[in-house]
Amino acid sequence: MDIKSFVFNAFYENTYLLISKNRETVIVDPGCYEDFEKKELTEYISKNELKPVLIVNTHCHIDHVLGNLYLQNLYNIPLYIPALELETLKSVTAYAPNWGIVNYEEATPNKLLNENDLIEFGAEQLRIRFAPGHAPGHLMFYHVQEKVLIAGDVIFKESVGRSDLPGGDFQTLEKSIKNQVFNLPDDVLIFPGHGPSTSVGHEKKHNPFVRP
Ligand SMILES: [Zn+2]
Repeated sequence: MDIKSFVFNAFYENTYLLISKNRETVIVDPGCYEDFEKKELTEYISKNELKPVLIVNTHCHIDHVLGNLYLQNLYNIPLYIPALELETLKSVTAYAPNWGIVNYEEATPNKLLNENDLIEFGAEQLRIRFAPGHAPGHLMFYHVQEKVLIAGDVIFKESVGRSDLPGGDFQTLEKSIKNQVFNLPDDVLIFPGHGPSTSVGHEKKHNPFVRP
């Protein structure tokens, strides 16, 4: 599986393309908002002859969902969101103008994901890890064979997600990191929702906010 990342919108959010060998591609947390951002993403997809098959959100804060509707319509593909993030998604329309975001339109999810679901595309299989604390229904996506964790805003390189937003709670976040991140092998690569990638081993040693 190949992973291509983009940094989009005023929140410097990481959007990921997960690309299987047959070019089937999952778009994770499409934060593209401005026209030039949408163009950058879709040109990459067409130039590399990728076949988008699915959009997934790790959680539904504004910076992770801005491109949902645009891509759902453009590629006519489904959107999956965490089941417990539906309220988070529904709140975005109301608070978007406070962030100067006036062109946001909410997408309707095609499926609500739970812990026991699997995401399958091409030759790939992603397992789901429930990791609340930053957002109440936050999910992470784990590729066992490739040792890749798509972590959203649970953990960042030597940092962690905010827990002061609605539905957030630091003790819950700490528990999620200990039980759903630090119990993975040290050489699992972490691709977070903001900033550079890291690894489980690095964070167990150097993360100042949560100790294993
Ligand atoms: Zn977030």
